[in-house]
Amino acid sequence: MPDYQPPVDDVLYLLRHVIGADKLLALPGFAHVDQDTLEDVVRAAGRVAADVIAPMNEASDQEGAQYANGRCTLSAGFADAYKKVCADGWPSLVLPEQWGGQGMPEIAQGALSEFSNGASLAFSMLTTTGRSASRVLEAHATEDIRELYLPKLISGEWAATIVMTEPHAGSDIGLARTKAVPQDDGTYKITGTKIFISFGDHDAADQICHIVLARTEGAPDGVRGLSLFLVPKFMVNDDGSLGEMNSLRPLRIENKLGIHGSPTCEMGFDGATGWLLGDELRGIQNMFTMINTMRLEVAFEGIGVAGAALGNAIRYAAERPQGRGDDGGDGPVAIIEHPDVRRMLMTMKALVDGCRALGLECAAQLDLSRHAEGDDARRDAGELIAFLLPICKSVFSYAAVEVANIGIQVHGGHGFVQDNWAELYLRDSRILPIYEGTNGIQAIDLVTRKLPREDGHAFKLWAERIADDLDRAAGVEGCAEIHGAVDEGLALLTDCTRQLFERLGGQGNDTGGLGPRDALSGAAPYMALCGRIGLGWMHLRMAAVETDDPLRPEKQKIARFYATQLMSDVPGLVQQALSTADLLDDLPVDALARI
Ligand SMILES: Cc1cc2nc3c(=O)[nH]c(=O)nc-3n(C[C@H](O)[C@H](O)[C@H](O)COP(=O)(O)OP(=O)(O)OC[C@H]3O[C@@H](n4cnc5c(N)ncnc54)[C@H](O)[C@@H]3O)c2cc1C
Repeated sequence: MPDYQPPVDDVLYLLRHVIGADKLLALPGFAHVDQDTLEDVVRAAGRVAADVIAPMNEASDQEGAQYANGRCTLSAGFADAYKKVCADGWPSLVLPEQWGGQGMPEIAQGALSEFSNGASLAFSMLTTTGRSASRVLEAHATEDIRELYLPKLISGEWAATIVMTEPHAGSDIGLARTKAVPQDDGTYKITGTKIFISFGDHDAADQICHIVLARTEGAPDGVRGLSLFLVPKFMVNDDGSLGEMNSLRPLRIENKLGIHGSPTCEMGFDGATGWLLGDELRGIQNMFTMINTMRLEVAFEGIGVAGAALGNAIRYAAERPQGRGDDGGDGPVAIIEHPDVRRMLMTMKALVDGCRALGLECAAQLDLSRHAEGDDARRDAGELIAFLLPICKSVFSYAAVEVANIGIQVHGGHGFVQDNWAELYLRDSRILPIYEGTNGIQAIDLVTRKLPREDGHAFKLWAERIADDLDRAAGVEGCAEIHGAVDEGLALLTDCTRQLFERLGGQGNDTGGLGPRDALSGAAPYMALCGRIGLGWMHLRMAAVETDDPLRPEKQKIARFYATQLMSDVPGLVQQALSTADLLDDLPVDALARI
């Protein structure tokens, strides 16, 4: 397995010059953090990823998690790495100080998430579920439960899972049948089978807190009938010590394409004792506290694995001698000298750089949504992050698959075989467009919920931000191509958004008879279009910022490549987004199904 080299300098460039970390840290909520502390945390996060997490990734992939006798065990070194990461305080980085967290900004978590996902995608999800579950308990649990569970969950001493999927209830979680029956003592008995539960059982932590969606007796059908429960693996005594085992167990684990180190469990709940989190029938709303944290993390999973694939490909291309150079000299040159290999590497780099910048911008908006001064500023940041979240989850996850795929091509046949690990990144990344809501479901969320909310307020806000940055960057030397591409792209996106918006409104004359099904048929390309413009926006900001940072010339060159090569597909994406449903419906299902 190649060494993982965390891109610390690139992250610091963004925090210092592009994202405005200094302004964020000046907010009252971050009085205990200064720029030096933030940068020290970023460097230390790079070290823990490279020195503690990356070394266990080979066994994680090759050995994988195992299931035997109703228990799961993790691969060699996995549990030790987790315990070391916890002992050093990483799971609690951004969690509230009141419960033992460190209250650092989400931009610090963004850096940590990228590095740890780059070091081992399978590993990182274990800390993510604990952090996300902590947010759920903080927001929705009773004071007693918070006091009993939160400190240990936040420190990582206890782990957690997110438990939604059932065999017949995947994207359509409203079909879930797992039952919750109220007991006289205020608890519930949870019964049902859940599938695909990441880290449903393992030996890295003494306790696992399952956050479970289940249906109470007599509750309505669909998502409106779901409630949320805390169902611990072991009962917890009043003094916080662990009691007897709860009535639940892993039934099997999946054999799968990638993330072998992460056990994907089928879980049986057989009258297990659970505690209601928040109000009954508010399960899906309350679960979104966890889902939203995890969706942003999937975006950073994409950045991490794509960045690792890029580093791997660059190292290989610099060392692999094949073919003559332009000077026609005798010996073979490293393949990195050849234009087509350069094109592949530049494409990878432009995608990774753009995703990283937009990911950290989202993390900053999340910080602003909690800590900005003034209700309006907090509300606007909240609207912006809600709009950008499905875009980042989907666009970064697809970018990771694309980058990993190109990485194999850079390696030639040596990428298809297992020698150079290029194929690992493709295998691992392939889950990202699927879990935490498939990318198809994200596109529907973007177009039918996030876009129309408050008459398109979030989109207008985003477009205004981009327009402001275009004004600031106008005439800046070295930015002509990216400025022109983003300017034109924003105009096309704005018009496309208006037309989609009208289609959502109905079948009126003003839409030429087009309606919501037409909007849905263009949802995925629309999301890809937003991603192209979003990454272009960040490339513009990275290139145009006034600084003598030695990375700036590099950022300008990558921005120029992104503008001319990758933004050239903007008109095509607009055409796809505005294509109509009749194009998809024209071929009847029976004809489509004919083999
Ligand atoms: C490795 C792994 C780890 C996982 N971890 C967890 C976990 O920890 N906890 C958990 O609860 N779940 C977990 N999952 C489950 C995961 O979230 C689901 O697989 C995912 O939500 C999709 O559900 P599904 O597999 O049933 O696919 P389906 O919902 O059957 O979807 C199949 C296809 O149809 C499309 N589709 C479905 N409905 C619609 C619609 N209305 N409109 C348009 N297209 C639609 C989808 O986009 C997809 O392309 C995990 C899955 C895997 C593979």
